[in-house]
Amino acid sequence: MAATAIGPRTAVAVRAGRMAGALSRKVGLGAGAIIAGRVALRLDGQALSRLAAGRRVVLVSGTNGKTTTSHMTAAALRTAAPVAHNDTGANMPDGALAALMEQPDAPLAVIEVDELHLGAVADAVHPAAVVLLNLSRDQLDRGTEVHAVARSLAAALRRHPDTLVVANADDPVVVGAVQPSHRVVWVAAGMSWLADAGGCPRCGRRLETGVGPWRCTNCGMTRPTPTWGLDEGAVRHPGGRTEVRLTLPGRFNLGNAAFAMAAADALGVPPDAAATAIAGLGSIAGRYGVHRRGPHELRLMLAKNPAGWAETLPLLADARAVLLVVNAREADGRDTSWLWDVPFEQLPDGAAVAVAGERAADVGLRLSYADVSHATEPDPLAALALLPPGQVQVVANYTAFLSIRRRLATEEAA
Ligand SMILES: [Zn+2]
Repeated sequence: MAATAIGPRTAVAVRAGRMAGALSRKVGLGAGAIIAGRVALRLDGQALSRLAAGRRVVLVSGTNGKTTTSHMTAAALRTAAPVAHNDTGANMPDGALAALMEQPDAPLAVIEVDELHLGAVADAVHPAAVVLLNLSRDQLDRGTEVHAVARSLAAALRRHPDTLVVANADDPVVVGAVQPSHRVVWVAAGMSWLADAGGCPRCGRRLETGVGPWRCTNCGMTRPTPTWGLDEGAVRHPGGRTEVRLTLPGRFNLGNAAFAMAAADALGVPPDAAATAIAGLGSIAGRYGVHRRGPHELRLMLAKNPAGWAETLPLLADARAVLLVVNAREADGRDTSWLWDVPFEQLPDGAAVAVAGERAADVGLRLSYADVSHATEPDPLAALALLPPGQVQVVANYTAFLSIRRRLATEEAA
């Protein structure tokens, strides 16, 4: 990008950021992209808005599914034009800036944004569309509460009345956050976890969430009428019905595809073209990646919070061997009491189960109460030896997932 287009100060900041990123990669720190963005932001606080200027930007946010949905949205939009995308899941402002720096000439951008940073990033990039997937409890000790996050999102959306919001009609907390916005495309993507919704977003009373759309019996607030939804392996939309032959497993990934297709449609990519692009996606930032290791074929899955685990456990219905790995570091949240809310009773009868990670003992205790027999070994790769040969479904929380991926990559490179 020419220095005249972004201004000399931003050009210098971008150059310095790129040098820092390259240096960081060279000395093996790895996260060169984030460091590049961080350095550039330090030198020029306006760099994000300057690099976003003139592009059509889609922001993807929510507690679960934002990495997958942003990959799907980027794949769909790439059928029309080059797309800048923070594809590693670096979802703070520095990660957003790094993605724009790497693709300075892409006319489109898809930025995954942490829900706590959506307001700041939206103010800088003036998004054409914001995708809001769901809002549930993440790490218990992150110091935030679902409804406080919803209020800050509502304030952010009010500052951008022209932005199209693609939002989950099935999540009452999302609906509460989106109320003030005028331009909304409602998607009914299903919601397997309503335990964190609390009550009616308008009056706080208990919601009726059984069969059919949710509604409040006190004030009458009800699920908005969706124009996009799921239909047996297909996505329904205002133009009809499009089959989506996903490589990725699970109904929640079909839901993610519906959001991506709705966002792409808003930017001019028709559902058929979007569905074809999305169907081609296999592993996403290591999620669902398959690794052969000795007698085992491992499939890696990430579940970061109760809602994520609730969505992932149904994928294990036919599993013969399962490895559950849980850490409790800063990035995971140190409090593991959420384990008691996860329906581990759903683990299939007859599957061999091993638990690992720094909090293997906590998971093991939880499984004992669920009557799931299991073996315990804190080291996840050593725990594999306790499982029969063949396929192993590995579900890990955040730092556990990253650590397993790193160790497998090291072994595979050796
Ligand atoms: Zn109500």
